[in-house]
Amino acid sequence: MENRILIIGAGLGGLALAQGLVKVGFNVTVFERDKSPISRLQGYRISIRSLGINALTELLAPEKIVQLSKAKIADVGDGFTCANEKMEPFFSIPQGQDAAVQFLRCELRDLLQEGVNVEWNKRLVTFEDNGDQVIAHFADGSYATGDLLVGCDGGGSIVRELLPSIYGNSLGSIPTVVDNNRAILGGQIDRTPEWEKLLPLNKTGLVRFLGLCSHYMGVCFSERADRSPTIFWAFSEEIEDRSAPWYQFDQGLECRKQILEHCKKLMEKEAWHENLKKLVCDTPAKAMMAPWLIRTTQFPDSDQFPMVPTGRVTLVGDSAHAMPTEKGLGGNNVLEDARLLSTLLASASKPMDWPRLIESFERKMFARARVAVEESEGAAEYFRALRRCS
Ligand SMILES: Cc1cc2nc3c(=O)[nH]c(=O)nc-3n(C[C@H](O)[C@H](O)[C@H](O)COP(=O)(O)OP(=O)(O)OC[C@H]3O[C@@H](n4cnc5c(N)ncnc54)[C@H](O)[C@@H]3O)c2cc1C
Repeated sequence: MENRILIIGAGLGGLALAQGLVKVGFNVTVFERDKSPISRLQGYRISIRSLGINALTELLAPEKIVQLSKAKIADVGDGFTCANEKMEPFFSIPQGQDAAVQFLRCELRDLLQEGVNVEWNKRLVTFEDNGDQVIAHFADGSYATGDLLVGCDGGGSIVRELLPSIYGNSLGSIPTVVDNNRAILGGQIDRTPEWEKLLPLNKTGLVRFLGLCSHYMGVCFSERADRSPTIFWAFSEEIEDRSAPWYQFDQGLECRKQILEHCKKLMEKEAWHENLKKLVCDTPAKAMMAPWLIRTTQFPDSDQFPMVPTGRVTLVGDSAHAMPTEKGLGGNNVLEDARLLSTLLASASKPMDWPRLIESFERKMFARARVAVEESEGAAEYFRALRRCS
């Protein structure tokens, strides 16, 4: 009988995995809590390097690989500069060094959705595993039955959270994703020729301006969904007070106004360059993003896999290994997880030996992710230390 795969979450990982599995003929359904594909802003550009590009090339059908170039953002630079709050550079990594491709997130998501069965407005609330099948239950009272459930539901994964209560003592090694006590707060503004003069360091790519306190500001040139040129800026901010009005994760205008006001106050606290202050002050409230929580992952000392004894539930992407954003490795690893799992499933002989298959996936995935998380934490610490020493 045909194997049915239930994927929870239509983010980068869930959709990429679905593409890989659909390509080799699996029956796949993606369940997403968002009401529709456009109900939430998808963030700005994402930098994908060889790890992610190679994964995408294997996951996508040939005609989709051709379309991938449509999601690229050209002429925004792929270099990286680290500078102080006065816009004086500490160091630069030139363009072309990393062979990274800049993608527009919304277009990448659109492309990954094509040809995939996505059910919107389906928030997973719990699941059951009877050994032979897994049953996913959704907030609207509906349910779906499958052979494998993959939690691609991001850093705040409910699939991961439910594992201990569902499997109790028979559970293997599960990672703990923890809040880093930091949030990313940002917005965007039209990129005019005047701005290109005011932000000269951005011509070659992303610039990270390190503030004197614990926060820093990333600025990059990008594009909106309609391809109009834009500048994205984002603060990485330590969360001192979770009851603060800006600390709200909805998309409403009131929330965005609060975040903008908070960012303006952050600018006033330090001697930021006038052009950076102007960037924040000129940004309209409606162009602010909802805050992003930064998380990291603690891996268990033992490596007892598969995580669940039946091998019927696993994790892909940030749900398994959220990491700080400083190295831009998160999405690349998400895509590689999707490639690895779909390749293993495609090459498995039938009937599937789920525990053996998923054990093999999880061993390889967690070994790679552990290194990526360490590198990302190391990079975050490096930027903090650089500021303290300067
Ligand atoms: C500011 C920033 C910049 C970054 N830049 C880069 C970069 O340049 N390069 C890079 O490689 N990585 C980057 N990353 C990391 C990258 O964006 C993430 O690693 C990646 O998007 C995670 O993908 P995911 O599919 O695992 O999770 P998500 O993209 O978080 O998707 C999870 C999905 O699951 C859905 N969901 C959640 N709960 C439920 C539920 N109960 N039921 C149904 N659906 C649910 C969510 O709505 C969402 O659609 C960056 C991250 C940030 C925050």
